[in-house]
Amino acid sequence: MDKVTAFFGRIQGLADDDDALDFTFGNPHELALPGLSDAMRAQVDPRSVDWFAYKSSERSAQEVVAAGLRDELGLAFEPEDIAMTQGAFGAISLAFALFADAGDEVVIPVPGWFCYEPMLRAANLIPVRAALDPVSFDLDIDAIARAITPRTSIVVVNSPANPTGRVYPRSAWEALAEVLEEASRTHGRRIWLLSDEPYRRIRFDGVDFASPAASYPWTVIDYSYGKVLLAPGQRLGYLALSPLIPTEARGELRDALFPLGLAIGWGFPDAVMQYSVPALETLSIDMAELARKRDRMYGALVDAGVEVTRPEGTFYLWGRAPGGDARSFCDALEARGVYVMPGALFDQPHHFRISLTATMDSIDRAIPHLVEVAAELNRDAPR
Ligand code: PLP
Repeated sequence: MDKVTAFFGRIQGLADDDDALDFTFGNPHELALPGLSDAMRAQVDPRSVDWFAYKSSERSAQEVVAAGLRDELGLAFEPEDIAMTQGAFGAISLAFALFADAGDEVVIPVPGWFCYEPMLRAANLIPVRAALDPVSFDLDIDAIARAITPRTSIVVVNSPANPTGRVYPRSAWEALAEVLEEASRTHGRRIWLLSDEPYRRIRFDGVDFASPAASYPWTVIDYSYGKVLLAPGQRLGYLALSPLIPTEARGELRDALFPLGLAIGWGFPDAVMQYSVPALETLSIDMAELARKRDRMYGALVDAGVEVTRPEGTFYLWGRAPGGDARSFCDALEARGVYVMPGALFDQPHHFRISLTATMDSIDRAIPHLVEVAAELNRDAPR
């Protein structure tokens, strides 16, 4: 966590600095969607004595989520298989508690979200990295197969992927399912798949979404409303057990959701956020505007000769630092008041990540700096 904490410390004042052009974390830079406030306002006055009592998963929220998943993924999700949580963070912690014992290994993608590792270590689990393809950032199924050992209990996948913006096709999940079935047989223990899908609804150009839950029965899905509403401070998400998990195993897991939710520190979201789920389910940031931001930033960087992965989803843009050293690139930008995330946070010292949650105005103001710094570093790079 040291790298992340240090980076947090370094950029902490940015939100209060009107001149800073901040492309670091996926935080909002404009006022929240009015629909979010309306939804919460409609639920804030108590209608019964237990309105603000201790809550676990509210039935109304579970029903809406299960129906939404049935529509989106074409699988027969049941309300009882949905655990409402404090965002995807809460759901991921719950999955670790459900499927892994202290000392177990959990396979994670690299580059991947920088919190998997610290969360695993805090749960006394051992992160094992499986590299994505270094050029396309596709899943490398062989790398995952090599990372699995007799101590592996969970494999984590993330599509649409942070930081690369890649969305993986069904064929990748079919190949992964074969590997996981085979490895589970070989090692005599079931390997679970955690599909981290907080960006599931943030996709561009009508790109299809396939969940691995449709390919590998032993899958659980975590989700967060923090991304699609761009309101990560209002903690709401869920863990969904796939309906394809055999009935007996699913029944045992259902029974474990509540006690393990308590054990990880009452990982349930607050009452008002849960009551708001029916109204929030269909609410989204403006995807057309996000696509325009992506196109503007992507186009400018490509024109400047920067190697960038064209995001198919998420609100991130992943590129290779001009000159090859992301630290120099980020430092040169910071000197001009432009802040991007160094790839070192993702164990990729040659890359950088830009969050497209910044305003279009910030993007327009940052582009000349990005172009000039890229030209300087490319000129100075050893040939
Ligand atoms: N998973 C990934 C890949 C993420 O990028 C994030 C947040 O950045 C999370 C999970 C956690 O989401 P939340 O903060 O909404 O719980």
